Amino acid sequence: MQPFEPQPPDQAGRQADPYAQQGGWVSAQDTPAAPYGRPYTSGSYPAAPPAYPAPYGSYPGAPMPPPAPPQRQPRGLSPFGMPARHSWEIPMLVVVVVLTVFAYLIALALLATGNFDQYVLAFAAAPLLLWFGRGVNYAGQRVNGVRMSPTQFPEGYQMVVDAAARFGMAKVPDAYVVLGNGQINAFASGHGFRRYVVVYSDLFEIGGAAREPDALAFIIGHEVGHIAAGHTSYWRQLGMFLVPFLPIIGSSLIRAQEYTADNHGFCNRHTGASAAMGTLAAGKYMNRLVGFDEMADRAVVEKGFFVWMVNALSSHPVLTWRMWALRDRSRHGKLFLRPAPPAGASVPAGGYASSYGQLPASPPKSVL
Ligand SMILES: [Zn+2]
Repeated sequence: MQPFEPQPPDQAGRQADPYAQQGGWVSAQDTPAAPYGRPYTSGSYPAAPPAYPAPYGSYPGAPMPPPAPPQRQPRGLSPFGMPARHSWEIPMLVVVVVLTVFAYLIALALLATGNFDQYVLAFAAAPLLLWFGRGVNYAGQRVNGVRMSPTQFPEGYQMVVDAAARFGMAKVPDAYVVLGNGQINAFASGHGFRRYVVVYSDLFEIGGAAREPDALAFIIGHEVGHIAAGHTSYWRQLGMFLVPFLPIIGSSLIRAQEYTADNHGFCNRHTGASAAMGTLAAGKYMNRLVGFDEMADRAVVEKGFFVWMVNALSSHPVLTWRMWALRDRSRHGKLFLRPAPPAGASVPAGGYASSYGQLPASPPKSVL
């Protein structure tokens, strides 16, 4: 197909002829699929309609071309573009998938030699067990969960819709509120082609009008982000079947995924990051009393082997590191080694002042 090239105004008479076979014009045979008044071009639509008549197909009441799609945003750690995947996630995933495939082959080989150990059987049946477990989990939400909808928890439903749109997802996942019994938790999963988010009621409560709706939007962005990043895929979870048997390596992959999901939550509602972390640290009633900066500052102060070990074995980054990562958006969250203070900074006796690394304002404040 020839590109659509505007002609200079002195050739306007020729442009009005729809079937003129001029060089540079699109012939009628070339554009059978163009449903609008003007042919598609290889690039994006021009920003403004040309001052001369369209080459053909223009008539009163003709459908207008769709608006120019938004420019592709780069992935990054700022709240304005698309959220970045944690830099360690894919390398760790490759390591875990290779080990899982290796273990799976060993299990099949042992089975073929007549070994019916329970671990061998579990691994050989992994595809079936995972499929069964995901189906049971999803069914549990479908029959016991309060499903968010335009008429049931509409604010939460809207947050899920907004988060899916924010991440460019073609389909809005289902979302449920389930009884938390005091637990602060949420998760995302799927079964077949369905994807869903579950928020425990004790966590969902923070979204009430008089509380911290931004924090709930961050958390819903985090969970929908797990789906957007592919963490809830059956094949991905099958490839990570060995994770519970891989100390440090397995948990580190999960932590990288959590940083990725936090990046999504931050993009979805960065103003809710501090209250969301405060809720994870001190619960739904005291979340506002948690000093986000004061706690994040301790990420560089608390040191030692056991601090390293607690983080290395944890499924989520330890809270102080996680808060640090949500505050310092210049780099990815730390997976193995504790964060370092900014270059040139020294640790004051009483810890850091809370002046640097503040969450950015949205939109950025004008300096003029
Ligand atoms: Zn998560």
